[in-house]
Amino acid sequence: MKIPALALTIIAILGSSCAKPPPPRTEFVMGTVCTINLGNKGTEKLYDEAFARLRELDALLSANSETGNVAEINAAAGQGPVRLADETLTVLSEALAFSEATDGAFDPTIGPLVKLWGIGSGNERVPAPEAIDRALALTGYRKVSLDRGTRTVFLRDRGMRIDLGAIAKGYAADEIARLLSDRGITSGIVDLGGNILVMGDKAPGKPWTVGIRDPRTSGGNPIVSLQASSASLVTSGIYERFFVENGKHYHHILNPATGYPADNELLSVTILSTKSIQADALSTSVFLLGTERGLELISKFPGTEAIFIDRGLGIRTSKGLRGRVRILDPGFTLHDDD
Ligand code: AMP
Ligand code: MG
Repeated sequence: MKIPALALTIIAILGSSCAKPPPPRTEFVMGTVCTINLGNKGTEKLYDEAFARLRELDALLSANSETGNVAEINAAAGQGPVRLADETLTVLSEALAFSEATDGAFDPTIGPLVKLWGIGSGNERVPAPEAIDRALALTGYRKVSLDRGTRTVFLRDRGMRIDLGAIAKGYAADEIARLLSDRGITSGIVDLGGNILVMGDKAPGKPWTVGIRDPRTSGGNPIVSLQASSASLVTSGIYERFFVENGKHYHHILNPATGYPADNELLSVTILSTKSIQADALSTSVFLLGTERGLELISKFPGTEAIFIDRGLGIRTSKGLRGRVRILDPGFTLHDDD
């Protein structure tokens, strides 16, 4: 059969419009705004799969999910061991390793304090000192018995509560990158609420440019940029989740020694690593430890780098980033000579 020329033209136009890749996809998952951008290699199916996996991980690992593995562990605190999904075993083991590495500054049993402060929940307020003491008595990573043989975990005291909020997004970003890479994707961005993972280069031989936001406001403008390929950049700072009471600022990274938000010279710290789980755990850990002890900590993790922004608007970097960061806002000063 002979197809008229006009019909062929229409088929050609339809054909090319169907082939147009969908735009990057943004959804609210893991308590934050997540965007995946696969450029012209993106398909609806890939985005569907990636977000389905994110929702699955969120349900499994969130302390606030009704039915997940972490919720189950918390419900059984003081009563009995709970069997761990592969994902929970990986994330919890890694979290406990960071507790050891930071002398307990990073502590996944921070849950009772996180719940008490309620930062970001809409019910936040400064708790009574007695309530802080009671929550502090229910924290402590040494009271977690993780049995790799039986793949179970037991929280020693009733009322204990695991919270993986400082590490789960990093793990999820690695998982999504792995899923996409298994589907043949070599370039793209996974942004889980500012927990950034860039896959490959932006274009062959051209790295991605990643910005660090002004840490003095939520969603501030980028003030520093750097180029990165196949890497994750994760920031922990005082303006990500916070509230103000009687003129005082209270943020969401809690010091398990005091029960109050970590208070040091830092506004934010950004960690660069090939593994997002490491970047995420380290960003929170280093923020808790401060610049000097933080630099010591990252020196134990080869390939990781840090960018510190302090309250005096000074910016310091670890040695591997010397000469690699660009300051975009003249209000900030780079001190990379010491
Ligand atoms: P991030 O934004 O990755 O630094 O993680 C902050 C989140 O980690 C908080 O919202 C809490 O859920 C949790 N968190 C707070 N303090 C600690 C801590 N000392 N150790 C581990 N997790 C914490
Ligand atoms: Mg973190």
